[in-house]
Amino acid sequence: MGWHSPALLAEAPDARPRIERTAVTRVHGALTCYEVRARTALEAHPDGWAVSPYRGCAHACRYCAARRGHRYLGLDAGADFDSRVVVRTDIVRRLRRELAGKWDGRAVSVGLAGDCYQHAEEIYRIMPHLAGALAEAGAAFTVHTKSPLVLRDAELLAAGGASVMVSVAFVDDQVRRLVEPGAPSAQKRLELVAALAERGVPCGVAMSPILPLLTDSPDQLSATVRRIAAAGAAGLEPRVLRLPPGAREWYLAWLAERHPGLVERYAELYGKGPDADAGYTARITGQVCELATRYGLRPAPPAVRPAPAAARQLSLL
Ligand code: SF4
Repeated sequence: MGWHSPALLAEAPDARPRIERTAVTRVHGALTCYEVRARTALEAHPDGWAVSPYRGCAHACRYCAARRGHRYLGLDAGADFDSRVVVRTDIVRRLRRELAGKWDGRAVSVGLAGDCYQHAEEIYRIMPHLAGALAEAGAAFTVHTKSPLVLRDAELLAAGGASVMVSVAFVDDQVRRLVEPGAPSAQKRLELVAALAERGVPCGVAMSPILPLLTDSPDQLSATVRRIAAAGAAGLEPRVLRLPPGAREWYLAWLAERHPGLVERYAELYGKGPDADAGYTARITGQVCELATRYGLRPAPPAVRPAPAAARQLSLL
């Protein structure tokens, strides 16, 4: 019996990743998009609810806490997460239904499982519709992004009462190229903060993640906070690197390759789980909060405003 026997082929297990058996797959250059229907839109989150039109992220941050989710799709949490993005094409229809049903009025965070303004959004243009649905429901919502593409929707976000959190953890572009290879530079993100503020969108900065022994020196922290303040951020939220499963393996593999001398110290800092040693975390976030006060910044995220009543009546599409 030859290798191409129909009987053998019929019995061979389907070796494709699980997601490819159920999704419509489209390739856009280096990016593969899996188009799926959303089974749910609003997901429980410690601060309220979260909604993400995309899973996976071409910004490719080594530390991304959302990486583990790709394993459930039959993909890996490393390079696949960076280049194979799940697009939940009907998420707005599902979201409207859930806002009218299970939603309990708590705030909504947008874009935690993959930057909602990454390159795929240029192709699928889901965010204007999603922001419109949240605004019409009167939901207070915060968009999390590193991408200047959010400026495309600034008017809609301002009208809908949204706030934006832009992540700028450090201003050293050499580190950025290695750790966040697909993301815009810190300079571009700081310009984005200023541009959003100009357009009337309250914009805070997540100084996250501060990387132990790589971006946590007093000079580095000071330079970062100073530039965040100069950009006109409405507030600053410092957070030290977390290493949950998925992110942990991918980040530590990079560390061992680029900074083998730091591996042992990281093992000590992260010996008890995904969070860094509590004493270290308190010291670093305390330093950042002091710097924030010195530079006139409020060390907290911007207040999430409810959508203005008029905006709730309008379709923002
Ligand atoms: S931009 Fe955000 S979602 Fe995208 S890889 Fe980086 S941390 Fe993850």
